[in-house]
Amino acid sequence: MKRRLAVLLIVVLFVPLADAQRRTAEVPSKRPRLVLLIVVDQFRYDYLERFGDLFGPNGFRRLIRDGASWTQANYDHVPTYTAPGHGTMMTGAYPAESGIVGNEWIDRPSGKRITSVSDDSVKLLGGDPNEPAASPRRLMSSTVGDELRLFTNDRAKVIGISVKDRSSILPAGRHANAAYWFSTVSGTMVSSTYYFNALPPWVTAFNNTKPADKYFGAKWERLISEGEYLRRAGPDSPAWETVGSTSGDTNAFPHTITGGATAPGRTFYTALDYSPFSNDLLVSFAQQAIVNEQLGQDDDTDVLTVSFSANDYVGHRYGPYSQEAMDVTLRVDRQIATLLDFVQARVGLNNTLVTFTADHGVAPIPEHAATLGLGGARIQTPAVIAAIKNAISARYNAQGKSPDPTADYLLKYNYFGTVTEAFLNGNIYFNYDALKRDGVNLDEISQVVASAALSVPGVARSFTRAQLLKGATSITDPIERRVVHGFYPTRSGDVVIIAEPYKYLGDTITATHGSAYSYDTHVPMIIMGTGVTPGRYLEPSSPADIAPTLSAVLRITPPSSSTGRVLTEAIRK
Ligand SMILES: [Zn+2]
Repeated sequence: MKRRLAVLLIVVLFVPLADAQRRTAEVPSKRPRLVLLIVVDQFRYDYLERFGDLFGPNGFRRLIRDGASWTQANYDHVPTYTAPGHGTMMTGAYPAESGIVGNEWIDRPSGKRITSVSDDSVKLLGGDPNEPAASPRRLMSSTVGDELRLFTNDRAKVIGISVKDRSSILPAGRHANAAYWFSTVSGTMVSSTYYFNALPPWVTAFNNTKPADKYFGAKWERLISEGEYLRRAGPDSPAWETVGSTSGDTNAFPHTITGGATAPGRTFYTALDYSPFSNDLLVSFAQQAIVNEQLGQDDDTDVLTVSFSANDYVGHRYGPYSQEAMDVTLRVDRQIATLLDFVQARVGLNNTLVTFTADHGVAPIPEHAATLGLGGARIQTPAVIAAIKNAISARYNAQGKSPDPTADYLLKYNYFGTVTEAFLNGNIYFNYDALKRDGVNLDEISQVVASAALSVPGVARSFTRAQLLKGATSITDPIERRVVHGFYPTRSGDVVIIAEPYKYLGDTITATHGSAYSYDTHVPMIIMGTGVTPGRYLEPSSPADIAPTLSAVLRITPPSSSTGRVLTEAIRK
């Protein structure tokens, strides 16, 4: 009996010990050598479904087959713009923590309209030195790349690439080695003195080949037969496509990429942005970065972020249901395949943790949505401002004094020589000096303006600063929650206005995004690599979950303000 017990004890003691020893031997297992983030700017989740059967084998299809794909990933912040989206994916933070509340906002100390990455203290490298430069100084959170740099005593290399400055700078982070973007002034890949005093020689060599100029006069034709486009996207030039005569382009295929110019120059480089060819340029540059920076060549995990902007430019110009949006989607699938094939050859995809997502979706063109009975409309900025000013005047100048002392209650700023009232990203900003001068209570005038805004046809909701700061909102109301997640006190305005679905608030551009509705928030999210169980996941999720999940796979500290969840359903324990 005693002996049996002893044997049993030995067995009981030894089994877990052996198991533990085996586990110890497994740790540390190898980390991926490269974290590759692929972003397509303005890519709705449903593009994967609408065009899924037309993709090639090595692009999206490979990601869906070999990766974990979340079908219900939504941004949980508003406005759903490029900078807030790119500021979220590698930080795991909403704009409320990342501080990236818009592509642009009003900087109260200077009274200027600034961009998410504008920085007067740095100089541009690789382009026209008079062109404004950029840096990540306004990003308030660290990124996965920053944390990898800290973790490896700076041996990890972190590089961000895009056509747009904000889309290269924000995912890479504040302690990145470099971010590169495309200058439409010089037609070259540029960076800033934030990162180094001179461009690496390989970047200069790339620019010396005049990489953009070879696309001058290129014809953008449909990739496959016209019938497929007619069936899935309708006619090529519907009435709601309104390409301006100044763009040097038209509503119909084929599009000849010159910008209306006779030789490469500024207008052509801008036209290139609006064509799928700028994505090709980016793939070549990413390949050069992988080779010359030796990304993924050792056990210190490097990070490369590549954000394709052409899809956004094309989507803004033609809308999500256009033949052009369909074509640029089919083409980015091939471009991503080229990039993945290159990474496979150089680094090995089994050594790479690949993430694919988008920074936002896009709404149908309002005039299109109107013809479909979906309530599409444009709420004009002057209508909003007039309603607000009338309400302010009625409340604070009841005596009808002239000149009206309330005339300067809304903050004004100088924008390219035009003095404009500060209504940006659906945010109204007050002139605090004027309110102080007249003893006007900020909370009270905010309530006056919030209710006045509701009188404008098409406005659905409005929120005051005090309400948002006090948390006097319902976290179960998705619109309120998204407004709270998008509010950063020193950068956001004093009243936030939300339009009804399918209505644009103050936007004159053909098609756009920015709302809290599914067409703007619902994006693809795929993670592929060792440690991630392939499959289709229907759990509610958000691109804010990417950074904490990558950090868990990499076994590093999540970025400083990471508030997303680890996507445990797909992570091998
Ligand atoms: Zn964007």
